[in-house]
Amino acid sequence: MRQRRGIDLTVGKPAFDLAAELGKLKIRELAEWHILGAQCSKCHARRWLDRWKLADKYGRETPLATLRPFLRCTACGNRINNSLVLGKMDRNA
Ligand SMILES: [Zn+2]
Repeated sequence: MRQRRGIDLTVGKPAFDLAAELGKLKIRELAEWHILGAQCSKCHARRWLDRWKLADKYGRETPLATLRPFLRCTACGNRINNSLVLGKMDRNA
């Protein structure tokens, strides 16, 4: 397959595809072992969010993309263009 924009497609999906798909997921569709995080577009600080609190506040049917405008970086205060990240729960945590 021809490569677009110099991205090596053999190493997995480009990050922006993941972001688009992640945004369509609803809070209740996250697996038990998934942890939801947010990354600041300015200072790149990453924080993990409490999905259960988010579900209480915004509803379990809320697509994750809806939450993006509400994200605020606790390190620098930036609210603009922050992104969501998905991680896996550490079994020892
Ligand atoms: Zn920040």
